[in-house]
Amino acid sequence: MPLPSPWRADFPAIAALQRQGQTYLDNAATTQKPQALLDALNHYYVNGAANVHRAQHLPGANATQAFENSRSKIAHWLNAGESAQIVFTHGATSALNLLAYGLEHECVAGDEIVISALEHHANLLPWQQLAHRRDLKLIILPLDANGLIDLEAAASLIGPRTRLLAVSQLSNVLGAWQPLPALLSMAKSHGALTVVDGAQGVVHGRHDVQALGCDFYVFSSHKLYGPEGLGVLYGRNEALARLHHWQFGGEMVLTTDYHTAKFRPAPLGFEAGTPPIASVIGLGATLDYLASLDHAAVVAHEAALHRLLLDGLNRREGIRVLGAPQLALVSFVVEGVHNADLAHLLTEQGIAVRAGHHCAMPLLKSLGLPGAIRVSLALYNDSDDLERFFSALDQALELLR
Ligand code: PMP
Repeated sequence: MPLPSPWRADFPAIAALQRQGQTYLDNAATTQKPQALLDALNHYYVNGAANVHRAQHLPGANATQAFENSRSKIAHWLNAGESAQIVFTHGATSALNLLAYGLEHECVAGDEIVISALEHHANLLPWQQLAHRRDLKLIILPLDANGLIDLEAAASLIGPRTRLLAVSQLSNVLGAWQPLPALLSMAKSHGALTVVDGAQGVVHGRHDVQALGCDFYVFSSHKLYGPEGLGVLYGRNEALARLHHWQFGGEMVLTTDYHTAKFRPAPLGFEAGTPPIASVIGLGATLDYLASLDHAAVVAHEAALHRLLLDGLNRREGIRVLGAPQLALVSFVVEGVHNADLAHLLTEQGIAVRAGHHCAMPLLKSLGLPGAIRVSLALYNDSDDLERFFSALDQALELLR
């Protein structure tokens, strides 16, 4: 049964890509943008750019108001208690680095930081390097056969020395929701801080950070159909108050002389320098657009596409799906075929998927694989996209086998 996407026409790049002979199925890397976002960017630049929080003039006041409106919209999207809990960064990666530097003073030699075996490099390397700087132990939670963080193992590895737990909500390789409530409650029972990497999770469904109960939640705008160069860090008030300032410069300071300074609290105290103003305004417009969609219909469409993708792969011989993907994406390898060769033949046929280690080298290594192919879906994909993918896959495999 065909599965058309009612929202496809809202994303002009999809038609443009199709004219270029491209089928875009690399949405976990980044997404195409809705017209509503392009209109907002155009409106901002055409009507007059200005810096925020500095100028008393009208363009500055307009930009600041639009910028702060976006902060409120993002707070609302995540159900944060107040917009001051939303800090703008340059991406999920820079939000996680902010945390790894801003919380460094909380750790003393021998303390433990706990992450999982499936983390993206962005949620591994900042903690690994913090562990090196402070002589901490980095504990890696293992996965079960379905690619979920093993809760039994976690119960024995999270303990009184755990200072911080940082885990992904939805794996960018295995496509499975991680058991966050159980993990967060284990960490909290030992007084540890909790960080959720929502880079993939935020794109699928709506999440309530207060109900989730984490101290920090991070994501990147560009994966949520928004503009690039913008990340979001949500923090509970008590957790934000524990952060030390990390980057220093304009607007984050209250008063300074040549030798000393007093800094602002969150959010502005963690937004040194000119922020990505147009991107912040653009993300607000993107969220307005997303909020206008029939949420249940989006979830149902994505689920139906995912079933089609998974069934199609499972029906083909010699294909090994990684983990037990529940939504959004499927990573796979083909027996006797190198993922780079397959990726090359798919690329030649205009299929844009991702091949390689997906910025999760240790995970791929633990699965005994040099890399894998990942097909990842967005709300604008349809069954024709998948048909083109499967037909290209069959042709490629015929050639390679
Ligand atoms: N975490 C996860 C799970 C991701 O998939 C990504 C992006 N691939 C990131 C973090 C980092 O996001 P960014 O590159 O936008 O900073």
